[in-house]
Amino acid sequence: MSNLVWFRNDLRITDNHSLKNACDANGAVIGVYFFDPMYFQESDFGLDIDMQLPFGKTGKYRAQFIIEAVKDLRKQLESHGIPLLVFHDSPATVIPSLIQEHEITDIYLQKEWTRDELQQEKLLGIEIEKLEKKPKGRRTYDQFLFHPDDIPFSSFQNIPTVFTQFRKKCEKELRVRNLVDIKDYHQEFPEVTETNLPTLKELGLENFEKDHRTAFPWKGGATEAWERLNHYFWETGKLQYYKKTRNGLVGIDYSSKLSAWLAIGCISAREIYWEVKRFEKEVKKNQDTYWLIFELIWRDFFKYVSLKNGNDIFKIGGILQKEYEWKTSSRELEKWMNGETHERFVNANMKELSATGWMSNRGRQNVASYWSMHKEQDWRIGAAYFEHILIDYDVHSNYGNWMYNSGVGNDPRNRTFNIQLQASRYDNDGKFQRLWLQEELF
Ligand code: FAD
Repeated sequence: MSNLVWFRNDLRITDNHSLKNACDANGAVIGVYFFDPMYFQESDFGLDIDMQLPFGKTGKYRAQFIIEAVKDLRKQLESHGIPLLVFHDSPATVIPSLIQEHEITDIYLQKEWTRDELQQEKLLGIEIEKLEKKPKGRRTYDQFLFHPDDIPFSSFQNIPTVFTQFRKKCEKELRVRNLVDIKDYHQEFPEVTETNLPTLKELGLENFEKDHRTAFPWKGGATEAWERLNHYFWETGKLQYYKKTRNGLVGIDYSSKLSAWLAIGCISAREIYWEVKRFEKEVKKNQDTYWLIFELIWRDFFKYVSLKNGNDIFKIGGILQKEYEWKTSSRELEKWMNGETHERFVNANMKELSATGWMSNRGRQNVASYWSMHKEQDWRIGAAYFEHILIDYDVHSNYGNWMYNSGVGNDPRNRTFNIQLQASRYDNDGKFQRLWLQEELF
């Protein structure tokens, strides 16, 4: 008898409820991770438009980040005697045979609710139905700061559309949960067939060299997430200046840079929260330290937006069901992706993104506004490109922010950015633009 933990966007062993619950149950624990081809193939992103998008769902930067994270997870699990099986295949194809081979009675997994993740589960469900002995699926929400069972709203439908209302009520009425761990859990390493991690090439992607100019010199995995946190909080104390520097564009320390690890769960939002609290006790408590928590609440908010609105987050009218006229031009897309528009600030940001898989929050707001508000291009195409290229792609934050910046989401003001004004405010000396547009000097 064994328990299977299907790791998804929760690639850590600390504060992981699926893993903890599996370890607390009877029987051996086996982990599994899938590089599901569904995430690595060409896709129309469900857009239903007359245009072929020149990119797939997962680009090379995020793929490499995930490979590194899975390697790190495997090592950490092994120190508790837990194997991690890795497949370049779909759960629906592989899990039924694992169930039979290892007599799996329970499958533990993080609860997801967006289109692709539900499709994965639906396909798996069809295969499991065919089995004589069906395991129980045990799903837990583990990606939130404020747990869905604790929020002070009677249903997801009653969650406010305006962020401030959501934040204030949550901050007043609930407490972030304590952390869990599996420190004391050790098992005899069960007999499993060895599996290998896929390479970028096997995933259909090309190898690359990292660009030395990047503001986010990353490595995937929980070990690296904690390295980064320790650097930003404890070694340099930069957290105490966060609010003042967070709109920066150049350098590694203007913001926490924790998003990519958060997106695939190498670190949990609760872990970061409790480290902020410890920092506030041991070093300093100010507006800046609070502001990191404030941003984590934004992250939660977009998860609740998608819980409340379901697939509307992928629809052209967004959650407001606005009937705007949107254009779809391949030429505009090419110019925007390549950083060849008439706006230097947009170009610099887009070049940074394509060379590194990273862009600052300030940059993201400007290039999104340029695409959807200035050029009136279908906002979902911009969001799809971000989905492909961002290392820190997170379905809720990406589509939520894109809707917000495109007048179909949660921003009651429906703003359009004045890009030249933004450039002069946030890149007054032109340092950022020179860094990424350097070829134009010659
Ligand atoms: P910090 O400033 O240090 O903030 C700490 C954490 O708070 C971040 O790691 C992130 O988890 C959260 N956070 C901060 N700002 C936001 C925000 N606006 N919305 C949601 N969470 C936030 N973030 C993603 O993680 N994945 C995405 O796919 C994504 N797509 C975006 C698309 C657009 C068009 C825009 C405008 C923003 C997007 N963001 C996304 C939000 C934000 O830009 C990044 O979270 C942030 O730049 C990451 O840098 P950091 O970790 O240094 O953030």
